[in-house]
Amino acid sequence: MTFLNHKYQELTPYTPGEQVDEQVYIKLNTNENPYPPAPSVQQAVSEAAQKLNRYSDIAVETVAKPLAHYLGVKQEQLFLGNGSDEVLSYLFQGFTEKGIAFPDVTYGFYQVYSNLYQVETQIVPLKKDFSLELSEYDELKGTVIFANPNAPTGIYLAQEEICEFLTHHPDRLVVVDEAYTDFGSQSMVSLIDQYKNLFVVGTFSKSRQLAGARLGFGVGNTELIADLNRLRFSLNPYNVNSLSQAAGGAVLQEQAYVDQKIQETIRVREWSKKELARLGFEQTDSQGNFLFAKHPKVAGEKLFTSLRENNILVRWFDQPRIKEYLRITVGTQEQMERLINVLTTIIEEVTV
Ligand SMILES: *Cc1c(COP(=O)(O)O)cnc(C)c1O
Repeated sequence: MTFLNHKYQELTPYTPGEQVDEQVYIKLNTNENPYPPAPSVQQAVSEAAQKLNRYSDIAVETVAKPLAHYLGVKQEQLFLGNGSDEVLSYLFQGFTEKGIAFPDVTYGFYQVYSNLYQVETQIVPLKKDFSLELSEYDELKGTVIFANPNAPTGIYLAQEEICEFLTHHPDRLVVVDEAYTDFGSQSMVSLIDQYKNLFVVGTFSKSRQLAGARLGFGVGNTELIADLNRLRFSLNPYNVNSLSQAAGGAVLQEQAYVDQKIQETIRVREWSKKELARLGFEQTDSQGNFLFAKHPKVAGEKLFTSLRENNILVRWFDQPRIKEYLRITVGTQEQMERLINVLTTIIEEVTV
């Protein structure tokens, strides 16, 4: 017996990566930042806690003002959400009347939201090397969404190709999910005045150490933002709570700290790529804070379970094209050294 509406009874929800005891596990499974936020961020949250009797600021000024400045956009071109997942949710709910197109290998929530809002989806397989060919979306209709760099492959699509598509399809909304852009690739944000059909989504979860605060944003033309706010004020005007607002405001005053950790992550990523290659792994040239790798002699599932037995948690997707791959978040240098040591042993055991 269920009280759930009929149309939701077949819904397959998103499967988040596990949250585990970090005293036990090295956690490389959800692309979080391995470093804690700067002390001033923790301080700001603690001060904001004193005013928890009041509702949060619906304009999210504390974040919107410095973020607009940092991105070089107007505040009216900015939308703040409870994680970028919420921003994406509004997009799928409200901007997909003619359907939505996205690649077969990409962020899992796109399919989940399509199902939730019963949006017609057009799934376009990535090429054999997992690269995305936008011209394959030319003949489709409606909104297009992709992550750039893509997840979980880490592959970056050059800006010129996106611009060309935007120019040729002014009547189609193009959503670029830039969750991982801060890790060394170029953002499209500066182009939103030029392309009215461009919407860029970003997050504080990956590069800004605030996954637990649930703070994401979208950047687009003012009409689009006003429309998003129409949806937001019809559902939950106080979508960003005051502790997260305080954290977000404070983290934007700590850009030097954030940048330093980003540089460290990029350095460790490139070090890890070389080590994985030395162990015989085949991998994409990931531009995110994660690696995407498979071993020619050891199955993805076997690697995943063996690592887990050694208290290292990575992400393995039981999906057709990527079954042999692991997605490994770039942790600290120390964590990655441990990973490489354990992988060395696993591979030796299997291949002797
Ligand atoms: C992590 C991730 C998100 C979600 O980020 P939140 O802001 O934590 O909701 C969105 N898109 C992609 C591609 C991601 O990897």
